[in-house]
Amino acid sequence: MPLVLMYHSVDHFDEDPHLVTVSPGRFERQLAWLKARGLRGVGMGELLDAHAAGRARGLVGLTFDDGYADFATRAVPALLRYGFGATVYVVSGRIGTYNAWDDGPRKPLMTADQIRTVAGAGMEVASHGRHHVSLPGTDDTELREELEESRAVLEELVDAPVTGFAYPYGHATAREVEAVRAAGYDHACDIRPEEPSRHALPRAYVGDRDGPLRLRAKLLRHELRRRSRV
Ligand SMILES: [Zn+2]
Repeated sequence: MPLVLMYHSVDHFDEDPHLVTVSPGRFERQLAWLKARGLRGVGMGELLDAHAAGRARGLVGLTFDDGYADFATRAVPALLRYGFGATVYVVSGRIGTYNAWDDGPRKPLMTADQIRTVAGAGMEVASHGRHHVSLPGTDDTELREELEESRAVLEELVDAPVTGFAYPYGHATAREVEAVRAAGYDHACDIRPEEPSRHALPRAYVGDRDGPLRLRAKLLRHELRRRSRV
């Protein structure tokens, strides 16, 4: 599998205790760095289709968890300038509110209009569950609701199939991976899965400290892991 990068928020910041924010200037330089290496950022659906067709060379998956409003106002305009795509993982029960699950700084989440706008701009809208709960702690009914209700709400909103999922906090055991598959999702992103699969895809964290040297190290590490698996 090609490299998949994991972002959350792109914005100016004073404090960022959970290291989820990349400043707009840094983000722009990271995109320029990818482009200069002949790499193109794409959403997960496009990445997996290209991979299946043997055409994923030169592609990098770009993912944004939580659906922050700055995805619409800052990330997407920059992505479009570079001709890149991305997948954004939206928390369906929190649309238009803020990251209430987090004890860090409050950040606004995209409104329904913003979600429709980014979908219209070619970004892939996917599910990050209903309430951003850690799924291994849910009972079977709540787990099903988190997966099925979030997808139904988002499909209605963007008027298109929603085929991707990302596990809140990267928490997933075999039970949740199977439930995501059973709920009809085509693929799902994890962070560091013990057993990588189409429904537990690994991703590399990207933060504000990731300049050219660190990005290059991440790319190389991915390349080495990939080769060691073959
Ligand atoms: Zn999240």
